[in-house]
Amino acid sequence: SKVPPIILNNGIEMPQLGFGVWQVPDDEAERAVATALESGYRSIDTAAVYENEVGTGKGIAASGIDRDKLFVTTKLWNDSQGYDSTLRAFDASLEKLGLDYVDLYLIHWPMPSADTYIDTYKAFEKILADGRAKSIGVSNFLPEHLDRLIDATSVIPVVNQIELHPHLQQRASRAYHGEQGIATEAWSPLGQGKGLLEVPAIIAIAQKHGRTPAQIVLRWHIQLGNVVIPKSVTPSRIKENIDVFGFELDPEDMAAISALNEDRRLGPDPAEM
Ligand code: NAD
Repeated sequence: SKVPPIILNNGIEMPQLGFGVWQVPDDEAERAVATALESGYRSIDTAAVYENEVGTGKGIAASGIDRDKLFVTTKLWNDSQGYDSTLRAFDASLEKLGLDYVDLYLIHWPMPSADTYIDTYKAFEKILADGRAKSIGVSNFLPEHLDRLIDATSVIPVVNQIELHPHLQQRASRAYHGEQGIATEAWSPLGQGKGLLEVPAIIAIAQKHGRTPAQIVLRWHIQLGNVVIPKSVTPSRIKENIDVFGFELDPEDMAAISALNEDRRLGPDPAEM
């Protein structure tokens, strides 16, 4: 594959760029995942709540790519938190995907008000010990949630998947993850494709490199060390979004994008959700 790996804190390699399938309907997921796999993606990011694990699994099966060349992530939805319910929800996800293991299983949100993420993660440790997830991690955890998790459990999460794009650069979380050996995975890396790709500074850098604004934003993430999982159902964009390993942003380009931070979320605040 053309995508370089990062090495997780358990020694396992994860492609630094993957394909996200949030909001892809189940009956379109097979085709979208198949297009991504044909285009060179080897990492796929789904979740129980996306209700497309069946279509995602079909796209994976249809590709004929050896299972050990793929990196499949799914996530536990909030209403399944708790030890026993997590084990049941994991069985259901594997069944829908048609797989006998996932590469990465994530707690989708900490939901601090429910106070169940520690028990949930203990079930994740059992799933890991049974070899049914090769790695375990979390999503949308604030440093305070990670501190508590790391104190109360034995396995440091390999990644924290958080909202991250030039308008929400998450410097405190990234620094904290760096100290703990947790990889930062960026969700909505393109800012959901809305205003971000029309920002003049990004358009100027795109023109300078003969690239698209989406490629510039993805390249910025790659050079920061983030894992990215851009989503598209459009074949030309699916291909465009993985074609970010043949050029480099200059230090002044990186600085110009880093100056766009507004600490502005598109999604919910993890402390409230
Ligand atoms: P994204 O930032 O990847 O943006 C996707 C949108 O940007 C597309 O729908 C399209 O409108 C546009 N786009 C994509 N490629 C483009 C291109 N080359 N040129 C122009 N426009 C383009 O947003 P996302 O889907 O929210 O995030 C990516 C993935 O992150 C999701 O699919 C999902 O897997 C994951 N995610 C996780 C969480 C979480 O809570 N853990 C939340 C949201 C998303």
